[in-house]
Amino acid sequence: MKFMENSDFICPVCKNAILSRSFEARDYISLEPFAVYECSHCGSAVIKLQSPGKSIAEYYNERYYGRRKSFVEKFINYSREREVMKFAKEKTAPPFLLDIGCGNGTFLMSMRARGWSAVGTEMAPPEHLLIGAESFIYKGDLGGQKFANNFFNAVTMWHSLEHLSDLRGYLVEIKRILRPEGVLIIEVPNFQSLQAKIFKENWFHLDVPRHLFHFSPKGINLLLKEIGFSEIKVFPGSFIYEFFGYVQSILNVLTKRKNLLFDFLNHKIAWRDVYKKHFKDLAVNLIVIMPAAIISVFLFISALAAGKSGIIGVFARKS
Ligand SMILES: [Zn+2]
Repeated sequence: MKFMENSDFICPVCKNAILSRSFEARDYISLEPFAVYECSHCGSAVIKLQSPGKSIAEYYNERYYGRRKSFVEKFINYSREREVMKFAKEKTAPPFLLDIGCGNGTFLMSMRARGWSAVGTEMAPPEHLLIGAESFIYKGDLGGQKFANNFFNAVTMWHSLEHLSDLRGYLVEIKRILRPEGVLIIEVPNFQSLQAKIFKENWFHLDVPRHLFHFSPKGINLLLKEIGFSEIKVFPGSFIYEFFGYVQSILNVLTKRKNLLFDFLNHKIAWRDVYKKHFKDLAVNLIVIMPAAIISVFLFISALAAGKSGIIGVFARKS
């Protein structure tokens, strides 16, 4: 195990405090353990990678990239489109949008259908992109793309910021390529949420070590302010991610094989393999799913009322 240096204990989100070890969680794919450190000042969390010589890319394999049911995809897309339309001031056609970590490109296609000139960046192998989407998706990192200064009207990051090791580098680059008055819209899990606090290492959205950081509303606010964004707003994020976060986290507490329902719904595991290899966990899933869904409704409402939603949307403007 690599010994961490002192600087590693400074919060990478707010730069203020000394991190303290909070709990240990296992990657549900590699089964390796990771320490989760929490910042006492802003409440964000950082995951420490401790396997010497192993790069983060090695934790993204075939089992990570799935395929959502199309009606779920449509609903998620619709709410993302609405979010962009709510915040984007520009009426000039066609406005330019960049989606960082755009997945298979389905959100970009929706925005293009609305008349936006939308492009994306994605690290996943090209076979995961929708047919026809390759022409407007740039492969690889944002830094390598060399987009022009003051170009985009909107930049979106749906569940991608928590995957990036160089937080400040990315945000500074986004600010450079946004037009003055351009908007940045981010959606990330909330480490100070009710679901994160109840379920800890079993929290579905923790996803160590692919999620290198977990933000709190205070942490993301401080970070964006430091980079120079203004009009920063934090609000409850995707209801689907929120609700499913409860259901899968409850199931994770009770089963040996974590995220079984999620992997099944996203075509990452075949029904035959669920039946053959995880029969006991399948039985638990079938018995518990309805009570878990009912409990999740109550937790969902309580979290929303307390302002502690599991997923947060963040809006910021380049001033
Ligand atoms: Zn902090």
